[in-house]
Amino acid sequence: MTDYPATARERIWQFGTSHRKMARTGGPVVFDTADGCHLVDSTGRRYIDALSGVWVVNAGHSHPDIVAAMTAQATRLGYALSEEGFANTAAVDLATRLTDAVDGVYDRVYFTTGGSESVEMALRMARLYHSARGKPGKRTVISRQGSYHGTTLFTLGLSSYDIFSRAVGPLPDGLAKVVHPTCADCPLGRSYPGCAVGCAQDLADTIERLGPDTVAAFVAEPVSTSAGVAVPPPEYWPAVREICSRYDVLLVADEVVTGIGRCGDVLATRRFGIEADIVALAKALTSGYAPLGAVLTHRDITTGMPANALLIPGFTFTGHPVACAAATANLDILCRPEVHDGVHRKSARLATALRDRLGGRPHVGGIRVFGLLAAVDLEPPPTVPGRRTPSAAELSQLMTGWLLESGLYTRVVEGCVQLGPPLLAPDDLMDAIADHLASAFDRLAEHLGRI
Ligand code: PMP
Repeated sequence: MTDYPATARERIWQFGTSHRKMARTGGPVVFDTADGCHLVDSTGRRYIDALSGVWVVNAGHSHPDIVAAMTAQATRLGYALSEEGFANTAAVDLATRLTDAVDGVYDRVYFTTGGSESVEMALRMARLYHSARGKPGKRTVISRQGSYHGTTLFTLGLSSYDIFSRAVGPLPDGLAKVVHPTCADCPLGRSYPGCAVGCAQDLADTIERLGPDTVAAFVAEPVSTSAGVAVPPPEYWPAVREICSRYDVLLVADEVVTGIGRCGDVLATRRFGIEADIVALAKALTSGYAPLGAVLTHRDITTGMPANALLIPGFTFTGHPVACAAATANLDILCRPEVHDGVHRKSARLATALRDRLGGRPHVGGIRVFGLLAAVDLEPPPTVPGRRTPSAAELSQLMTGWLLESGLYTRVVEGCVQLGPPLLAPDDLMDAIADHLASAFDRLAEHLGRI
């Protein structure tokens, strides 16, 4: 019998962790099968999938409609070149399905194979748009501190992962950052609502400082998971939209995590009442059954892009037919009012369950829920002179391990438990998730009491 964890350590590069750490913990956990809201590993252990992989499997695992659509498409046409004057019927059908799902506000699509590629292509299109319209000086892209937008050099540069950026740099130039709207811990030291949404004003000030003629785009997540599901105040997005329009800076919404129903609508920007100029999608577009991302352009950008603009070389796998067929079936499942209503209902239930079961427990910090995105902060123990205080990374690793032991899979990153169950999960799964977390926090209190 293959020892999958040992063989994985030997044969597969583990990014985002180290091989030494994996060897110490006997990892990685190697998943083998899945159904609905559960994952099973190579040793037969079963876990609740409380993160939908990584906010990917919105329709749940092994959905028969998606499996059937992929099988039929692979039989019909598994691959064909889909650019440079070629396309395929599955990609055309998906582009139509997707633009219908957003009511035609965004009316043309470019397909990628993941989130980094979607954000990168969205921003390249923003630069192309300006240069094709006679403004070649508009190059700089502004993002927010604390964000994650991907792992290509461009998107890594827009992210706040200095430790990785330093290791693989130099990064491209033409990048700038503004503050993040994190009201619970305002980077400007102000408090809402008296702050006049200074976080949005920081964008206007930065554009002024850099020179409006040099700025191409502002990219941000409607609600950032990397910044711990920090939900901006209601005035933030309308203010940002107005600032971008005022300075002819394209607003690029990174909806890689928040899109495709995760926040109770097709796009989370719709929940804030705004339209971006370009939207980047990936993750849940196929619910993870095949790698696929998409860049959606607003109809004003589509019409504003000169028809003779020569687009950059694209990807071999753009518009992959089997991935597109999976996405069309997935949208048929997820883009229904009752699914969005279900997300709102389960969101409220998850928030109540987390607050009821975790509130007041030692080492539980902030709890934030938006749609079926949620985060629970680990309150670090106070420093005691003469005693070693475990780091956030150490505590996160322990929590992840205890949750797995108890039968719940999720990630704990830098002292923040990330949650995001499949959208079709039964309502009572929200209570089960909160119960697992309560036991893990009890274990944490016990552990910290001992050291
Ligand atoms: N944007 C956001 C907001 C993300 O969370 C991620 C990945 N977690 C990406 C972009 C990059 O997506 P991918 O890993 O598919 O390249």
